[in-house]
Amino acid sequence: MMTGTPVVTEQQIFTDDLWAYRQAVRSYISSEPALQRWCGTHYPSTEAHMAEHAALMAQLFASGWSRYGWPQAAGGFGGDERHRAVLYDELSAAGVDVPEQQMLLETLGPAVLHYAPALAAEFLPAYLAGEEWWSQSFSEPDAGSDLAGLRCRARRDRDTYVVSGQKIWTSHGATARRLICLLRTGTLESRHRGLTMIMIDTDTPGVQIGPIALASGQNELSEVFFDDVVVPASRLVGAEGQGWQVAMFLLQFERAMYAWLSATVASRKLRELRELLAELPDGGVRRLGECYTDIVTLKARSAQTVRRLAAGEAVGPEASVDKILLATAEIGLHDLARDLLPTEFLFGDGPVAAHWRDDWWYSRASTIMGGSAEVQRGIIADRVLCLPKETSA
Ligand SMILES: Cc1cc2nc3c(=O)[nH]c(=O)nc-3n(C[C@H](O)[C@H](O)[C@H](O)COP(=O)(O)OP(=O)(O)OC[C@H]3O[C@@H](n4cnc5c(N)ncnc54)[C@H](O)[C@@H]3O)c2cc1C
Repeated sequence: MMTGTPVVTEQQIFTDDLWAYRQAVRSYISSEPALQRWCGTHYPSTEAHMAEHAALMAQLFASGWSRYGWPQAAGGFGGDERHRAVLYDELSAAGVDVPEQQMLLETLGPAVLHYAPALAAEFLPAYLAGEEWWSQSFSEPDAGSDLAGLRCRARRDRDTYVVSGQKIWTSHGATARRLICLLRTGTLESRHRGLTMIMIDTDTPGVQIGPIALASGQNELSEVFFDDVVVPASRLVGAEGQGWQVAMFLLQFERAMYAWLSATVASRKLRELRELLAELPDGGVRRLGECYTDIVTLKARSAQTVRRLAAGEAVGPEASVDKILLATAEIGLHDLARDLLPTEFLFGDGPVAAHWRDDWWYSRASTIMGGSAEVQRGIIADRVLCLPKETSA
């Protein structure tokens, strides 16, 4: 039988050749006028922000470029973490927003893919297309840093789980379609061994979500109450009792891919800040240089982590380094804007001033969310550097 030359599809070229993918993405972004809609816009509310960015998700999905980096079985075109990293880099370099939904996806998507491929196949395509998004419901009023102490309970009842309790600080919970919840299925004493990850639809009877306003006034966070919420056992992400393992897998993406994505946005914002400054005050060049160095340091570290994740390596506790560098860069950038734009930053009533002010407030949280800076330093000391335990004098 004659065999012809195998057909190489365009998708295959881009999944195999990262440089070709980057060039094609760059060419698309520079030639697509529709993307102007998402260049540096300030949104009056979280709800408006998420709705507009859902439209950006849809645009990037329809063009195909956001489908690289995700497997075909879950609505993608193949490729790996590096494809996603390149997309964020190119959007930011062109001054286009990276969709807010993409930040949640980087946190939650890989864990759902890895531990619940059937759920990923069912729901990830709609996520990529901007038709739905998910939130992370781990923290509780008495369990943040100490996640192994969480109490929100899931009780097995034949082929369902019945969930009762409370979560707090759930980012974008009020607009999300589904919650990825870390729940207690064992006894409280079983600590991290008695935890289970379950995906819960926000419109399930008994789920109540109330917004929590940030210092900027934006309703980005939320508290979630579960009152005997019945969830099919098919919504398990991983096995019962495997929740801690799933959470640790997830946290390396939350800390590392999120850091890369945020670093690309920080590079863009530093450039925009420089363009806003007609002249620099004394010491301004040094401050800009220090900030630039922090962002480049973060990107250098983060690029290495992205390569490791793409190679299937477990980054584990080392992702805490990326998280600390991210907080340093974000706080430095926003303090710099406050100091170099003093009048505009404090008293300007236009969208640019409002944007910098809101983001300055948000940057204060960068040493808390996703695990506090103190806890990250503890992880690095104990589990990366293996330093001896402190002894009391
Ligand atoms: C903007 C924002 C968004 C968030 N989004 C989400 C989300 O989407 N989903 C979610 O589940 N959670 C979210 N969180 C919650 C976040 O993960 C927790 O706030 C964080 O883990 C800290 O927990 P905590 O607030 O309970 O503080 P605590 O754990 O009570 O910590 C209080 C203080 O004690 C310190 N501390 C605690 N333990 C130690 C230790 N072992 N060593 C040294 N110092 C320690 C901490 O560093 C901190 O300074 C978000 C938080 C913020 C601010």
